[in-house]
Amino acid sequence: MPELPEVETVRRMIEPAMTGARFRRVIVNRPDLRIPFPEKFVDRLRGMTVDAVTRRGKYLIIPLSSAETLIIHLGMSGWFHVAATGDHTRDADPHDHVIFVMSSGRTIVFNDPRRFGFMDLAVAGALDDYRSLRVMGPEPLSPEFDAASLARACRGKSTSIKAALLDQRVVSGLGNIYASEALHLAKTSPLRKASSLATKPGKAKPQTAALAKAIKTVLLRAIRRSESPYRAGRFRVYEREGRPCPRKGCGGTIKRITQAGRSTFYCPGCQH
Ligand SMILES: [Zn+2]
Repeated sequence: MPELPEVETVRRMIEPAMTGARFRRVIVNRPDLRIPFPEKFVDRLRGMTVDAVTRRGKYLIIPLSSAETLIIHLGMSGWFHVAATGDHTRDADPHDHVIFVMSSGRTIVFNDPRRFGFMDLAVAGALDDYRSLRVMGPEPLSPEFDAASLARACRGKSTSIKAALLDQRVVSGLGNIYASEALHLAKTSPLRKASSLATKPGKAKPQTAALAKAIKTVLLRAIRRSESPYRAGRFRVYEREGRPCPRKGCGGTIKRITQAGRSTFYCPGCQH
C-alpha cells in the first residue's frame, strides 16, 4: 500500500507533466473507484490548468485554474504512468481507469487494480471542509513534526505506539511499513503504550526524540531509494519475519504480530 514515500515519488513523477499544463482530454473508464467520481468530473477538468501538484500525507492535492482542487488518493494499489502522448510502448491495461491528456504533450494514466483509490474535486475555497485533511496531523518531514509534537499527540493515549503512528491525526503519511521500520530504527517496542512517549505534563522523552528522528530518516531514505532502480533488501523488519535482526550485535529474530488487525514486524531483542 502506498505510504508517504511512494505518494511523494508519484508526485515527483507527474509534476513535470502536469504543472502549468491544461487538461486537453480526460477519459474516465468507469463510474467509480472506491467512491463515485464527482459530478461532471470530466467537464470540470477539461480546459483547466494545473497550478501545482502538491502532497499532504498520502493525498495528492492539485489546485486548478478553476479554483477547484483535484484530490487523489492511491488507495491500496493506485499508480500513475506517464508517457509522451501517442506513445503506445506500454500496453493498455483493464485497470487503467482514468487518462489525462495534458497540453504538455504528456499523457498520464491512473491504474488501480484493487480500486481502493479515489479522485475527488473540492469546490473553490472548500478544501478545509475535507475532513480527513482538516484533522490530519503534521507532515513528518516538516519542522512542525518533532519530539514535542509527537509527545503532545500521544499524551494520555492508551493505544499501542504502533497504532498511534498509523493514526493520521498523530502524524500524516505513515502506514504499516514505515511505522514498523521507524520503531525498529528507534529501538522502540511497538507494544508500548503511546502515552509512554510523553511525561505527565505532555513533554517529550529521549525515546520520543529518537522516534521522531527515526520517522524522518526512514521516510527520507525510502524517497531516495525509490528514485533508483535498486530495490533489493529495502526493509529492516517489514516482511522479514524469522530473519535475523539487521542491527549489529543484536542477534535477535524478527517477529510478526498482529495489532489492531494489521501486521507488525519487530525485533524483541532490541526494541524495548
Ligand atoms: Zn534486534
